[in-house]
Amino acid sequence: MTRRIGGAGTGPSPLSRSARTTPPPAPKGALKNTAATASTNLREARYESRFEETDAARPKPQAEGAKAGAKAGARAGAKAGARAGAAAPKEAPKLPADVRKTLDQQLALHPKNSAACKTLNALAASPGFQGMKEADQQKLLKYVGGTNLDLSGPARSALDKKLGSDAFKKADAGKQTAQLQKFLTDQPATPDVVAPQKDAFKDKRLPYKLHGPSNVKDIAFQGGKADAVKYEVEVDGKKIPVYLPKKADKTSTHSIDEVAKGLAALPKSSRALVKEVLVEGKPNPDDAYWAKEYNDPNFSSYMTAGADGVINVYPSKPKQSQDYLDGTMIHETGHTLSIKQWGDSDSDKRWDGWKAAIKSDGIVPSKYAKAAPGEDFGETLQLYQQVKGTPKEAEVRAMMPERFKIIDSLLAEKPKP
Ligand SMILES: [Zn+2]
Repeated sequence: MTRRIGGAGTGPSPLSRSARTTPPPAPKGALKNTAATASTNLREARYESRFEETDAARPKPQAEGAKAGAKAGARAGAKAGARAGAAAPKEAPKLPADVRKTLDQQLALHPKNSAACKTLNALAASPGFQGMKEADQQKLLKYVGGTNLDLSGPARSALDKKLGSDAFKKADAGKQTAQLQKFLTDQPATPDVVAPQKDAFKDKRLPYKLHGPSNVKDIAFQGGKADAVKYEVEVDGKKIPVYLPKKADKTSTHSIDEVAKGLAALPKSSRALVKEVLVEGKPNPDDAYWAKEYNDPNFSSYMTAGADGVINVYPSKPKQSQDYLDGTMIHETGHTLSIKQWGDSDSDKRWDGWKAAIKSDGIVPSKYAKAAPGEDFGETLQLYQQVKGTPKEAEVRAMMPERFKIIDSLLAEKPKP
């Protein structure tokens, strides 16, 4: 169900509010609320990451290369291949040949992590797993079997806990299957938002040049018209105007250098979508609406964007890290890209392909992605770009193959004007 607040947008204009985009997700704790799928004519707002996990708060995945695993890997020596370092179960579980193959592939990803292999083998050996449909067995193995810390690491830790619990061990095969099925559907260890690993974009950042500043009058910030300081950030031959408030609170507002670094770290396809950036001196005026809607008095937006390619960045306390800024900018360009392609309402028929891909893939990039198909697109695009060209790309792609395929083809197209 979608619900509109007010009328349809009158079309985007560069410095004014644009047509509606997807609403922000419900804050943590309210995510269960189905109202999170509502869409309105408010600009899409990405939550300030009050609940963004820092590395410290991120669910601890099993460490790759743990001591015991390293030894086991060394013993396996030249035989390092499928199941190297793995303690193979005494009796081979009864699995379809293709599932067995996937299991072996996933085990081979962890030559130095015996704990990971132990979890995967315990899963495969359980009567509950053997009772699952083949397609779900494949999904679950790809989900918990990867080396990525974005999804697979935390998921495997959570699964390990489940497999060792009395509730699972004492259940009969049918009930075990139901528990595993629920685990696959709920993905309880999934992070709240897609967030880059530390310095994920550092090597991708291009050099940039700053032009300005100049003083400009009456800029239509989301928080109202105000005089501003204008810079132009030049990256890879493209100049992007950035407006900042005249008086900014440095403890909560990003500096021109931080914004420029974010723009310089964007993939070329994302940067092409950015028309300008408004660094807001005041919170998103829509926050009050969402605070009420989601019953969270602390609600605050971090970034918003619409079809017009204008990114608004709001103050946040504490100020977000450069990594988080870099990643969120990609997420926001995902809104600009998807709205241009398929329209600003996800009930538009053109969204059907993406919605079908979400359903077919099953695995979500974050809890936030569940708020709306548009959020799923932004989160998936961010994850796609985070792993693109890295050793993790193949395993993350295997978790969300249909969505990655669509993004492949969108990025191969010439961007729409
Ligand atoms: Zn968003």
